[in-house]
Amino acid sequence: MDQNLHSVMLKKVERTIANLEKNNMHGHYVTSVEALHEKIKSLVPENSVVSVGGSMTLFETGVIDLLRSEPYQFLDRYAEGLTPEEIKSIFRQSFSADAYFASTNAITENGELYNVDGTGNRVAAMIFGPDKVIIIAGLNKIVKNLDEAIHRNREISAPSNVKRLNMQTPCNTTGTCSDCKSAGRICVAYTTIGFQRVKDRIHVIFVDGAYGY
Ligand code: SF4
Repeated sequence: MDQNLHSVMLKKVERTIANLEKNNMHGHYVTSVEALHEKIKSLVPENSVVSVGGSMTLFETGVIDLLRSEPYQFLDRYAEGLTPEEIKSIFRQSFSADAYFASTNAITENGELYNVDGTGNRVAAMIFGPDKVIIIAGLNKIVKNLDEAIHRNREISAPSNVKRLNMQTPCNTTGTCSDCKSAGRICVAYTTIGFQRVKDRIHVIFVDGAYGY
C-alpha cells in the first residue's frame, strides 16, 4: 500500500481503537499474520475451549489452522464429514466456549461492530455466551459510521458471500442489494454491538492489510 494512504489508514485504526475503549471493548493492531497468531496465543490460554463464527478472514489469516494446531479444544464446525445436526450442536456448544473467534462485516470509527447473519449463530455468540470474543479484522472493514456500515454490507459483504455460497438471490447477479424476499436470502439478523458491560470481553485485533468481505 502507498505510504501516504497507509498513514491515513493507521489514523483510522487509532481513532477506532480509542472509541472501542470508550465502549469497553479492547482494540489491538498487528502488522502481520505472524504477529496476529502471537497475539491470539497471548490472549487465549492453552486448553481453552474455542469456537468460530463463519468467516473468510479467519481462513485468510490462518486462524482456523492455528486453532487446529495449537493445544486448544476447538469446536471445529468445518471438520470433514459433520452432519447438519452435528454442526447445529457445535453452534449451540459455542455459547459455552471460553473464546469465540469471528470477523465483522464492518466496524465504525465510533467503535461499533455491525453484522448481518443468515443463521444467526455468529451474532448470537458475539452478543451472549462466550467469556471472550476475539474479532479479527482487516483495515478494509473500517467505516465512518453506521450508515456506511449498512452500505458496506449491502454493496460488498452480502453480495460477495452470496457469490461464494452460490445462493439464488438477485445480488448474486447484480452485485448489489435489492432487499430481496428470496428463499436463499442471507440477510436475516441485523445487529450493532455498541457497548459491553463486561469490560474487555470483546477484543478487536486489526491486522494490517485487507481480509475477508
Ligand atoms: S437482502 Fe437479498 S439482495 Fe439484499 S444483499 Fe441480502 S441476499 Fe442480497
